[in-house]
Amino acid sequence: MSILFEKLALVGVGLIGSSIAQGVRNKGLAGHVSVATRRAETLEEARKLNLADSYSQDAREAVADADLVILCTPVGAFEAVMKDIAPVLKPGAILTDAGSVKGHVVKTLGPLIPAGVHFVPGHPMAGTEHSGPGAGFPELFEGRWCILTPEAGTNKKAVERLSEFWGALGSDVELMDATHHDMVVAITSHVPHLVAYNIVGTADDMETVSKSEVIKFSAGGFRDFTRIAASDPVMWRDVFLTNREAVLEMLGRFLEDLSVLQRAVRTGDGDALEELFTRTRAIRRSIIDAGQETDAPDFGRSHAEASREGTGKS
Ligand code: NAP
Repeated sequence: MSILFEKLALVGVGLIGSSIAQGVRNKGLAGHVSVATRRAETLEEARKLNLADSYSQDAREAVADADLVILCTPVGAFEAVMKDIAPVLKPGAILTDAGSVKGHVVKTLGPLIPAGVHFVPGHPMAGTEHSGPGAGFPELFEGRWCILTPEAGTNKKAVERLSEFWGALGSDVELMDATHHDMVVAITSHVPHLVAYNIVGTADDMETVSKSEVIKFSAGGFRDFTRIAASDPVMWRDVFLTNREAVLEMLGRFLEDLSVLQRAVRTGDGDALEELFTRTRAIRRSIIDAGQETDAPDFGRSHAEASREGTGKS
């Protein structure tokens, strides 16, 4: 493939930053890849993995002269990073991010973007429960959605170039309003994570069933939740701190529906239970049919991913 950007700078080089760097280098999408991260150990790990052409603990140094800058730190760090790098961003550069929340990002970063820099917020809807540079892999974005949420009036060419970039990494790109994005991910990702954190926490707090029994007898249901509940604590803390309204809205609906289900269990309403479980099974089927999941008995993840885990690479 041909070079899409002369210099790409990634600020944050965990699962997402590392996967972007690997995909870009494999496909030759940038003339130069620079990465910046906060801790020396993380930078060293990135260097060992040969993720970039240049490495720095100084984000300003990494983004100087970059045509495309992608913020790949937890969302809570974006504002400080942006305040730091804003003075050195190249005029005409595209600034985007990988953050899982968009309304908050638009609100906090928007006013900090220097004139002449094109701000196109983004969210690659791909991930695993692993973090750090070693968790990254170049195929992470293949066949996954990447949502971009440019404000009205954003330079069209910048949006097109960023869409082409994500397309080259294998993603399907969709443009969406930031508020709508936050509602969609609240129900498809954020509330499910909260439910997983909660159910694993509840099992951990139980007095009548011992912790060793929970682990020893963990059947598919609980085990699947533990995978989600193993996701990075800082990243997910920031998601719930920054997408509060959409999460509370969806959580309210979830709790109402849970009460209905609780009542069906208490009253022995088998018809209601069966009707719901039939509907939900069909949803699973349509996700598989849409190519967003496999039917394999390995937590539904791709075999490549499962075997990568087996080798401890993920
Ligand atoms: P990660 O693996 O935990 O990596 C985070 C990176 O950010 C590391 O390089 C870390 O550097 C750096 N960092 C952390 N705190 C920082 C701070 N306060 N200042 C500067 N750098 C900091 O995270 P990730 O999973 O790649 O997620 C990155 C972003 O992508 C997040 O905004 C997340 O919402 C979004 N996202 C994640 C997923 C997913 O499934 N994981 C999916 C889609 C989008 P040090 O180690 O040097 O501190």
